[in-house]
Amino acid sequence: MATNDPVCAYSTVLMGSPILLKLFELNEALARQVFRLIKQQENLLTVNRTPSEVMNVNLAAGQHPVNVSPSVFELIRCAKAVSLMPDSIFNFTIGPVVKCWKIGFQGNSVPSDAELQARLMRCNPQDVILDEKKQTVFLAKAGMEIDLGAIAKGYIADCVQALLHQQGISRALINLGGNVQTLGAPDSQAGWAIGLKKPFGAADELIGVIEVVNKSVVTSGIYERFFELDGQIYHHILDAKTGYPLDNELLSVTIISDRSIDGDIYTTLLYGMGVEKGIAYLAAHPALDAIFITRDKQVICSSSRQFNFALLDNRYQLSYWQ
Ligand code: ADP
Ligand code: MG
Repeated sequence: MATNDPVCAYSTVLMGSPILLKLFELNEALARQVFRLIKQQENLLTVNRTPSEVMNVNLAAGQHPVNVSPSVFELIRCAKAVSLMPDSIFNFTIGPVVKCWKIGFQGNSVPSDAELQARLMRCNPQDVILDEKKQTVFLAKAGMEIDLGAIAKGYIADCVQALLHQQGISRALINLGGNVQTLGAPDSQAGWAIGLKKPFGAADELIGVIEVVNKSVVTSGIYERFFELDGQIYHHILDAKTGYPLDNELLSVTIISDRSIDGDIYTTLLYGMGVEKGIAYLAAHPALDAIFITRDKQVICSSSRQFNFALLDNRYQLSYWQ
């Protein structure tokens, strides 16, 4: 970093994740405002403790509709639409199954198939009744639970980006535990350099570096939260059809997009599609790019439209689809 372009980094821990804000000015008041915004959003959306608006919805399952804030209503509406996309593995009503696995929360045993099947009966996104006029959400069956864990960080990263824009900031980076959103680029460099973690590597071990300007970079990988039993990895991205962790050729999917919520949505969706279908999908959606890391040590970029990528680990093989 050039000396006339000093980066000021502010960090904290929120949502159980390390949060990093980079600015190009000493502005602790703004950093505090950003962290307050994240905390406020977490307080609305968390499903791990009461009170939160989403918890209130879950606690009233099978009983009555619950009034929520406009932003929470919109996020739930978006999550429902994505869950209802054809062949989507994304399902925001997967809460009962997520809770049962407890992955990332000391989970260490495999639930019985009967238990998973019983819980999957309570995971139908069609049973989430939205009333636009009243701004209410009603979970029609007792025992249903919304889980926004797959999109909350992306949504909040976009809220932070909007706040920074509002405050006249044109160059910044926010990293919400792996969900990165950027504004502009550092003056002295072509873009923001974002490390791509090596799956199951040491904490600071990178496969490569992604360089972006004004883009979000979101990675979802099976190595983030998992437990191991009898040589098998059980991770936190679940197949909403079977209730088991998704099992395919992928170790991680990274999405480069304008909005971080899209990054969050599409990491899960493309995870479910796998490389071949995922690439075909992206060919028809040029606003999104992806980097797939496979079990057989390939790093496959959908294109180089929106980012540069430098491979650092030559045990992996890099290829571009376009
Ligand atoms: P993270 O960035 O924290 O690793 P992801 O964006 O990859 O999170 O989403 C994983 C989280 O989403 C899980 O911890 C769980 O709460 C929820 N989840 C798991 N499987 C699904 C699914 N099929 N559809 C929607 N949400 C899911
Ligand atoms: Mg996600």
